[in-house]
Amino acid sequence: MAGYKLALISLGCAKNLVNSEQMLYLLSEAGMEIVPEPEEAQCVVINTCGFIESAKSEAIDAIIAMGELKKKGRLKAIVVTGCLSQRYRDEILKELPEIDAVLGTGSYDEIVTAVNAAMEGKSLSLFGDINADISGAGRIVSTGPAWAYLRIAEGCDNRCAFCVIPSIRGKYRSRTMENIVEEALALSKTGVRELIIIAQDISRYGRDIYGKRKLSELLRRLCAIEGICWIRLHYLYPDEIDDELIETIANEEKILKYLDIPIQHINDKILKRMNRRGDSADIRLLIKKLREKIPELVLRTSLIVGLPSEGEAEFSELCDFLREAKFERAGVFAFSPEEGTRAAEMDDRCDEDEANRRQELVMDIQSRIMEDWGETMVGKTIQVLCEGYDYESGLQFGRSWADSPDIDGIVFFSGQCASGDFAKVCIDEVSGAEWYGRQV
Ligand code: SF4
Repeated sequence: MAGYKLALISLGCAKNLVNSEQMLYLLSEAGMEIVPEPEEAQCVVINTCGFIESAKSEAIDAIIAMGELKKKGRLKAIVVTGCLSQRYRDEILKELPEIDAVLGTGSYDEIVTAVNAAMEGKSLSLFGDINADISGAGRIVSTGPAWAYLRIAEGCDNRCAFCVIPSIRGKYRSRTMENIVEEALALSKTGVRELIIIAQDISRYGRDIYGKRKLSELLRRLCAIEGICWIRLHYLYPDEIDDELIETIANEEKILKYLDIPIQHINDKILKRMNRRGDSADIRLLIKKLREKIPELVLRTSLIVGLPSEGEAEFSELCDFLREAKFERAGVFAFSPEEGTRAAEMDDRCDEDEANRRQELVMDIQSRIMEDWGETMVGKTIQVLCEGYDYESGLQFGRSWADSPDIDGIVFFSGQCASGDFAKVCIDEVSGAEWYGRQV
């Protein structure tokens, strides 16, 4: 088996990044040399995202760019994996002839076969079972020295009307608790201090294999791992958050008081049409309960504007709710009608320009909420996970409990702290998502 020089481009979400890390592990175990830049490689693997228009364009642009390198003889083969290939399994090789081999989301473990076939000039496409059981394979962790994603399940059963993910990633499949704890232990031994718990919906964990929710129990076991200091939770579905989970989050010191709960919208008619469980009253009650039970809680959410049935009244209802709920963090998307979803068949929706205008308005509301909240941090001393030194500012930088990597803020501070260690930082100034302070 030849040890080809190989580069991997990972697009999309954190769950896809974990797949990339698992493929890197299999490839390096097979003797491939992993190089950082496509220009240095003989073969490039592009692990794609394909759930909305902008993600699809980004993936296609990357494939075409690698195709140019190939035309210039600087690259021998291109292997495409992930959600775009799964979603467009019938068209992708025809539409993008620069691709040599393609794997669906049920065939990541065939990556070595795919690379070898591509390098031997053989075209190959493998689309395994997207509902097959999952377990934690070996990974080459590509994130910071002190943090890593921990994916606890794959797929989704929620079937929101605007979302293609269940058709790309399959039905909900939890990993066994033993398998997850074993991986977390291994990560803690490599110096990982922060675990970021991910899945399409982590709050449903265990219902498929244990017959009931088991996230609270899993979190308590992860909290018992020495070396792990921070546990961050992403992708909680509102109506799956029960009292046991709230108690566990409130009482376990290692679980960061930071919760990512995508609500998507607040208008009852829209929530119903989008096949979202629960209504606006449920969401308000949940937020009230969480804020009462968990002091210093930072709430992150995801919102979609321009959904079918969203007129001016429904949109301003959403804006009023955001001013009331004061989410400290939020991601806002303009509705993208994705073929194959029920929402794409619904025609009572605003046009793209209007959806983009609403997205900007919500981002304005949110950035003001975030800044006002940020100002309340001035004079406070917080714990920061140090991630390095910024030569430009001459300051250390890192993240607080309120900052998930790549999507939230950053803390710059004067002082001495090694990457991967924690520092106590007194906040002196806030500028948007950037906080400035000094080690104390
Ligand atoms: S919860 Fe809804 S939006 Fe999220 S992955 Fe599942 S179907 Fe898609």
